[in-house]
Amino acid sequence: MPALEDRHGRVIGNVRISLTDRCNLRCEYCMPIQGIDWIERDEILTFEEILRLVSIFYRYDIKKFRLTGGEPLVRKDVVDLIRMIKTTFPDIILSMTTNAVYLEELAQDLKIAGLDRLNISLDTLDHKTFENLTKRDQLSAVLKGIAKAREVGFDDIKINAVSIATLNADEKSLQQFVDLAKEYRLEIRFIELMPFSGNNWKDGGFIASKTLRDVFNSFDTLEVLPMVDKSSTSTSWKLKESGVKIGFISSVTETFCSACDRMRITADGKLRPCLHSKREYDIRELLRDGSEDNIIEELIRKGLSEKWAEHPDFTKITYLPPVDDREMIRIGG
Ligand code: SAM
Ligand code: SF4
Repeated sequence: MPALEDRHGRVIGNVRISLTDRCNLRCEYCMPIQGIDWIERDEILTFEEILRLVSIFYRYDIKKFRLTGGEPLVRKDVVDLIRMIKTTFPDIILSMTTNAVYLEELAQDLKIAGLDRLNISLDTLDHKTFENLTKRDQLSAVLKGIAKAREVGFDDIKINAVSIATLNADEKSLQQFVDLAKEYRLEIRFIELMPFSGNNWKDGGFIASKTLRDVFNSFDTLEVLPMVDKSSTSTSWKLKESGVKIGFISSVTETFCSACDRMRITADGKLRPCLHSKREYDIRELLRDGSEDNIIEELIRKGLSEKWAEHPDFTKITYLPPVDDREMIRIGG
């Protein structure tokens, strides 16, 4: 089967699958304060439907899949899904993005089931700030989850921290991340705050990666590392004194759309070729109406052909996310 290549010459190599829109945290940049309309349970893809989709993408030689959400670890029997995928396709690199609240309990089973990599989202190491941001007092659980993941043998753990000017961009906060990275041998990646429907990113403390790098350079020296994976969203740096690896995902100020090799499947089975475009394609309908794989492939290729060359310039003062689009929690990061 020929590779899935879009009209801008980008080859899809990475599919992100959202397992649920539900979450045990309430991060203010991911969902509106007043909450959202949760997706009905029977609208969520079943494990069998997810496995069928993985097998279709696999035929296009796609070997990298990431499970996300909402919070993927709140999906009932998530370990069984991982086992199903990895037993059927052992050569797939299966990753998960999680807030780690349930990781202490599940890390061992996830490892045994075959999960390859973990990205853990953690924006602050201050308990009060964590609670203010996520509306839940769960920092201790997250830290225990990180320790457990290390203990059971996950050795490629990345911490994702969304940078927020008023919250985690000062020297003390960055130093705390460096200490955590040293303790558990982690890479810390700072993500620029992005605009999504329902979040107040403009007043919400956006800060550019470059500004953050200046803060790092005020107490250590950041050295840029050569790019290993050309489709990576992150630029990698190393702190000279501490030796800690730091990444920056600069979706706003240093965009990487030209190297984008991703597609997303929402928890309710919509193909979303671009994170920031609200254009979606209803795969679930085809999965449930008896359509053959070739019909599903046709829809995937249609979605791919309409993938944006790049997302709008968020730095333009006039840019606002469409209000009628999904919130990040219902897309899947
Ligand atoms: N619940 C899981 C977690 O938090 O890791 C997975 C889903 S979450 C939507 C995936 C990633 O999106 C997280 O790393 C989160 O920090 C990031 N994210 C959510 N809203 C964002 C925003 N407005 N800007 C940048 N990153 C965002
Ligand atoms: Fe939940 Fe992750 Fe969104 Fe936070 S970022 S509300 S943990 S889905």
